[in-house]
Amino acid sequence: MAAEARHIAVIGAGWAGCTAAVELTQAGHQVTLFEASRQLGGRARRVDINEVTLDNGQHILLGAYSQTLRMMRKVGIDPASAMLRLPLQMCYPADSGGMTFIAPRLPAPLHLLLALWRAQGLDRQDKLALARFSSAARWMGWQLHDDCSVSTLLERFDQTERLTQLMWRPLCIAALNTRPEQASAQVFLAVLRDSLGARRSASDMLLPRLDLSSLFPQRAAAFIEERGGNVESGSSIRQLRRHGAQWQLQGNDANLDFDAVVIATPPEAAATLLDGSADAGLLATLRSYEYEPITTCYLQYTGGMRLPRPFFALLDDPENAGGTAAWGQFVFDRGQLDPAQAGLLAVVISASSGAIQAGHDALAKTVAAQLAAAFKQPQLAAPIWTKVISEKRATFACTPGLARPANDSGLDKLMLAGDYTASDYPATLESAVRSGQQAARELLAQIR
Ligand SMILES: Cc1cc2nc3c(=O)[nH]c(=O)nc-3n(C[C@H](O)[C@H](O)[C@H](O)COP(=O)(O)OP(=O)(O)OC[C@H]3O[C@@H](n4cnc5c(N)ncnc54)[C@H](O)[C@@H]3O)c2cc1C
Repeated sequence: MAAEARHIAVIGAGWAGCTAAVELTQAGHQVTLFEASRQLGGRARRVDINEVTLDNGQHILLGAYSQTLRMMRKVGIDPASAMLRLPLQMCYPADSGGMTFIAPRLPAPLHLLLALWRAQGLDRQDKLALARFSSAARWMGWQLHDDCSVSTLLERFDQTERLTQLMWRPLCIAALNTRPEQASAQVFLAVLRDSLGARRSASDMLLPRLDLSSLFPQRAAAFIEERGGNVESGSSIRQLRRHGAQWQLQGNDANLDFDAVVIATPPEAAATLLDGSADAGLLATLRSYEYEPITTCYLQYTGGMRLPRPFFALLDDPENAGGTAAWGQFVFDRGQLDPAQAGLLAVVISASSGAIQAGHDALAKTVAAQLAAAFKQPQLAAPIWTKVISEKRATFACTPGLARPANDSGLDKLMLAGDYTASDYPATLESAVRSGQQAARELLAQIR
């Protein structure tokens, strides 16, 4: 324990809160981590339904998530065995009208050039457009003078319709959870800079083999408890107020005083906790976010069912007038990640507000039909069971010029952490983790 160990509360055990709590514990302080839910992990957590373990949503990480990987290692998770590492790829099912783009294991940028050269399903114009985009973005240092929408950026760089449909649109929706017409070009460029524009391993795609709570939050909790801290799950903090030189937290059934606090909840909940303490400008920013849903449709087939690759992009067609809409954007074969999940597919639909309107059962049927058509396997239309999990506020809508608050709330010994705080990244595990690290760093500087 540090010479002057302080009692610090971290509110919210998502990936940001777990990170802040681990860093503060490691610095020698006595940390209590409060989590309203029984399960740790927030928007990246395990869900147990009828003795089946699922995640609240299929996640994909990038090799560029350097701080997430660092934090995993710190708490004793080996990323190499906990995740399947694949080269950057965008592959659609064979003969479905899509494309196949896989980066070979070569140093950057050769891996992209060769992938581009070999890409199937793109014609010469598409390939030239992609090469043009990549070199212009590099030349600009992946920076824009004025933020604009991703659609505007793609028009400015003369991107072809097919490349936009098969590559830019799905990448934008997957990374920013916001449609290109509304999404921030600057944030999109930052994601591309750290994946396409960086060393080859940064562009790798990492698929969790473990459930999301086991991948980091539970090990983080063990790290904290083994060093004398406390983790209180099922413990919602209702109020926060100044009490002399300390912060008083009103919990489920007690008021507790702490020397310092990190609020690592989503922004709305942070605004509720800070009402009466923070200035009106910060409260207004915290309440100004708009949100986008992400829906994951799980489909269980017999154990022998296996896709030709661990994951595929799918051609979605949400506005299929007259016909059946195709909502699925990516499909993951969970059996190739964890043998205990043989036959389980997870289909992801980002920015999914339209998809859930007709109800979960209707959506699952449509998704199963889409898979059967895309893979030309009629049996995929008849899964044994399905489960749709829709997170209505999966991420903030990542629009141009969005105001995001700093970690320092401006209040004494009180920091904010979460994927929404100031950064050039969209709402991701990496932005949550970096924010938790930054909040801990700034708090440590204040209490030194
Ligand atoms: C379905 C889905 C798919 C996604 N896919 C990806 C992906 O592929 N790749 C990627 O990088 N990112 C993805 N994301 C985004 C990523 O999950 C989030 O950016 C990240 O988990 C946010 O972490 P956080 O700690 O900032 O917030 P949260 O996870 O929201 O954590 C906040 C925590 O605070 C708790 N809390 C709230 N109020 C209180 C209170 N009063 N007292 C105590 N506790 C409280 C909440 O219960 C929650 O656990 C996805 C998100 C979803 C929902």
